[in-house]
Amino acid sequence: MKSIIVAGAGGFIGGHLVRELIKDGNQVRAVDIKPINEWFQVFNEADNLVMDLRLKENCDKAVVGCEEVYNMAADMGGMGFIENNKALCMISVLINTHLLIASRDYGVKRFFYSSSACVYNAKKQKSTSNPGLKETDAYPAQPEDGYGWEKLFSERMCRHFMEDFGLITRVARFHNVYGPHGTFDGGREKAPAAICRKVIQAGITGNKEIVIWGDGKQTRSFTYIDDCIKGIKDIMYSNIEEPINLGSSEMVSINGLVSMVENIAGIKLNRIYDMSAPKGVRGRNSENTLIQKYLNWQPSTPLKEGLKKTYDWIQTQYL
Ligand code: NAD
Repeated sequence: MKSIIVAGAGGFIGGHLVRELIKDGNQVRAVDIKPINEWFQVFNEADNLVMDLRLKENCDKAVVGCEEVYNMAADMGGMGFIENNKALCMISVLINTHLLIASRDYGVKRFFYSSSACVYNAKKQKSTSNPGLKETDAYPAQPEDGYGWEKLFSERMCRHFMEDFGLITRVARFHNVYGPHGTFDGGREKAPAAICRKVIQAGITGNKEIVIWGDGKQTRSFTYIDDCIKGIKDIMYSNIEEPINLGSSEMVSINGLVSMVENIAGIKLNRIYDMSAPKGVRGRNSENTLIQKYLNWQPSTPLKEGLKKTYDWIQTQYL
């Protein structure tokens, strides 16, 4: 049994991770800034704490006595949030910085940082037929403004804490993670959850229209939460010292994603394209050669299957 802290435990990925770490027999300290009644998942077996981890003294309290830290905490959301809240996204640098310093000072053995595909150079993402972003495509640096710069900087800080202070740090670049128990409304939601919500609402209201951001031809790949959690743990306990992709290579256009959700719902909607909405990069996909080589990891959940589970969960939120 290990003593492990999950920062951002009230969030989507953090909540699923806490569940898995408890299942593995660990003693988990779950920390988030949100009041507990707003956490997506709460586990009584965990030590649940509400704290602002931007503050160094709270990071000290959070990590003391723990052997491992998983940092899933960030002020973030989908494209609509990160394009309009660049400064807020960058302030998350305080969370990772103070968690790293506290981990060094209190003898933490392993530290996991949740980075993002948003670190990749925008020039490599101008075409819808993206062949997949390799880990080396993050440099020369031209990441997503605000959010992506914070992620890239924090990745490097992890690297230098390992080199200079001997703290074992592991970094995964997540590619659009989706699944049940995540944000689906309020402005921070990402495309899969947003589309499920819009299709469900169209079914409820009878207004058979769906607004799509951009022309719908932009492409992405999406990683189901269970695959992500397995990958996080595999990376944490691996010898991989460089940031590594944790994503699916099943690329789909946003129009394709809408069609999949329409099929799940058994509904056909009139598509309205909002060209003034935030669109993000034109094409993004994960290149998985490295993770397959090191860990033999690949996602096991096809998009259609993961979307059905996500859709079903969001639908329960409207009952
Ligand atoms: P989320 O928003 O559901 O969870 C993040 C949690 O961090 C939230 O519960 C939030 O309250 C908490 N938090 C924010 N500021 C905090 C603070 N000052 N102190 C303590 N807690 C704080 O997001 P998620 O989807 O679970 O993402 C988890 C991590 O993975 C984040 O670092 C995110 O940037 C990264 N990531 C996620 C995706 C994705 O598709 N979900 C993709 C790339 C990277």
